[in-house]
Amino acid sequence: MSLIQLENACKIYSTGTQAVEALDGITMTIEQGEFVAIVGPSGSGKSTLMNIIGCLDVLDRGSYVLDGSDVASLGANKLAKLRNRTIGFVFQQFNLLPKLNVSQNVELPLIYRGMAKEERRQAVAHGLEQVGLTDRRKHRPGELSGGQQQRTAIARALAGNPPLLLADEPTGALDSRTGKDILRLFLQLRDEGRTIVLITHDPAIAAQADRQLRIEDGRLLPL
Ligand code: ADP
Ligand code: ADP
Repeated sequence: MSLIQLENACKIYSTGTQAVEALDGITMTIEQGEFVAIVGPSGSGKSTLMNIIGCLDVLDRGSYVLDGSDVASLGANKLAKLRNRTIGFVFQQFNLLPKLNVSQNVELPLIYRGMAKEERRQAVAHGLEQVGLTDRRKHRPGELSGGQQQRTAIARALAGNPPLLLADEPTGALDSRTGKDILRLFLQLRDEGRTIVLITHDPAIAAQADRQLRIEDGRLLPL
């Protein structure tokens, strides 16, 4: 069974009299353990596709099956559970809380999720170990380099042990050397069996993925 199955995915934004087909019939599957880069020009539908894959938005037509569950058939509670269990999110701007230290930033979503304290402690330690930041755990984001901040955000995404990481321009705010370090980390996580889906404008990053999905005007281009 594929981790991600999209069938004729359509998403339409209507503003006043205008309608934009942000996704215009996308059919694709992504397998467990794949590292897929989503590329395409600005306004082509990349973020819309990520929002759908991340269960942050719903399709107007077509279907999305994530880890065996038909997303459209789930109520809000079950959808939130599926998302928490399955997906870790990474963003361009890290989105760390400046007054919390590294450990606390990684721990926060686990608290919201109701994870017990001892289990949280282990999950945070494991997440920080995976990104190589154990020795920085007491630092606040402002005391870290950009690369270290993004590693913190990746540890936060990994802490609940989701099979899928969704990353929207994760190297966009980093210099190219640091971006390559972050790419190496994603490759290592892929080698450990995780599925990575990332949006990037950087051809050098996209070239390292197992597969590139190119979208234009809401449609998938053949490679
Ligand atoms: P990309 O991430 O590739 O830049 P987007 O998915 O953000 O593209 O946008 C795809 C299309 O949908 C664009 O034409 C954009 O203007 C439109 N769009 C995206 N979000 C909205 C929205 N909330 N309301 C109206 N139109 C939107
Ligand atoms: P990198 O290891 O990602 O190349 P830098 O060379 O930018 O990071 O930083 C080297 C060290 O300096 C890092 O370990 C980081 O903890 C520390 N550091 C970077 N920026 C700051 C800052 N604004 N305040 C305090 N310490 C910092």
